Amino acid sequence: KPLVFSGVQPTGNLHLGNYLGAIRKFVALQEDNDCIYCVVDLHAITAQLVHDDLKGQIRSIAAAFIASGIDPVKHIVFNQSAVPQHAELAWIFNCVARIGWMNRMTQFKDKAGKDRENASLGLLAYPSLMAADILVYRATHVPVGDDQKQHLELARDIAQRFNIDFGPKIRETGTGVDMIVGEEPIHGYFPLVEPLIGGPAPRVMSLKDGTKKMSKSDPSDLSRINLMDDADTILKKIRKAKTDPDALPSEVDGLEGRPEAGNLVGIYAALSDRTKADVLAEFGGQQFSVFKPALADLAVEVLAPITTEMRRLMDDTTHIDAILKDGGERARARAEKTMNEVSDIIGFLR
Ligand code: ATP
Ligand code: MG
Repeated sequence: KPLVFSGVQPTGNLHLGNYLGAIRKFVALQEDNDCIYCVVDLHAITAQLVHDDLKGQIRSIAAAFIASGIDPVKHIVFNQSAVPQHAELAWIFNCVARIGWMNRMTQFKDKAGKDRENASLGLLAYPSLMAADILVYRATHVPVGDDQKQHLELARDIAQRFNIDFGPKIRETGTGVDMIVGEEPIHGYFPLVEPLIGGPAPRVMSLKDGTKKMSKSDPSDLSRINLMDDADTILKKIRKAKTDPDALPSEVDGLEGRPEAGNLVGIYAALSDRTKADVLAEFGGQQFSVFKPALADLAVEVLAPITTEMRRLMDDTTHIDAILKDGGERARARAEKTMNEVSDIIGFLR
């Protein structure tokens, strides 16, 4: 069975973007794959070192996984810091990756802001840890939102570079130089991961600005729909969402240059498992005053059962803690095996 890995940071309230871009896909992939889903707490301290109630945040992401329908017995749910091999492999990858590769990452540029010299070294090396998260299990498929595409390309570059650097070498007689002939990278030690991105809302945008992605760390709560929002709050946020004054077009082409309209139609399509074209066939020509309440109703219908179950799980956290502990142990056994092999490949004495 293909091995799927993905992670979510415990950096705040989960939102509709996390659900549609990631968690909902995690659930769907369980059927045909072996899945490892991780609360990436080591990543959470890259942009902000000190968090209020980090333990509670970690539990709430795990609760969201379970409430959405992830089976922690058939698959693995755990928090990253419980498996030290993630950080260990990340160190190796820090030595494989080039500074230039990291400097090109748009997430780093966005999160570091203007004062880049003052960003943490961890924020710069974030993609290296992310590559380690995936490759410490030698996972091949990674469901993520569109914003993580660049990081996954980097994970492929790191895997490929490692495979070539530690691939079979032949000495070309005469030159006295070791020429690296690396096998086809795909046959190397680390697989080249495939991102699983797609659907009508691969990048859910902020409700306040159709050019910015919806984020946990956006200071404005009105910019996102949280998984824990109640029906009234969802309705209020969608009603206040930025839009243009025109009616909805009846074809997808008509959404061009209308990022906010495109976003809301994409969300509706994703929530109802339809295409944007299909949604516009129904709502084309209608004003937002009609479309927005319909969207809010749909969002509540999809999210309410998850919210209720998350609240129940968070009431008494012994169940979540037991899931994380068991998942951590199972993940660690697998990660240890890879790290031993990596140590042997590099030539460490162990
Ligand atoms: P932060 O602002 O702290 O980075 P985040 O909202 O970006 O938080 P992450 O934990 O970084 O959330 O990402 C978890 C998963 O959710 C990733 O797969 C990411 O691609 C996906 N994701 C995040 N935001 C969106 C979005 N707006 N649309 C679609 N997918 C998203
Ligand atoms: Mg993010």
